[in-house]
Amino acid sequence: MIESLPEEELREMIDEGKEIEVVCHFCSKKYVFPVAELEEMLRRKKEGPAGES
Ligand SMILES: [Zn+2]
Repeated sequence: MIESLPEEELREMIDEGKEIEVVCHFCSKKYVFPVAELEEMLRRKKEGPAGES
């Protein structure tokens, strides 16, 4: 889900400086992602797939 957001979209949300809410399409659970979390995701995207560092 949010992990699949394009990098530029993540960056925009970080620039706005506010946490975002995402509702999962599969289980309807609501997730809140603080800016720090978004930055972490952006960093991971740049570094490539997990476990391949
Ligand atoms: Zn879910």
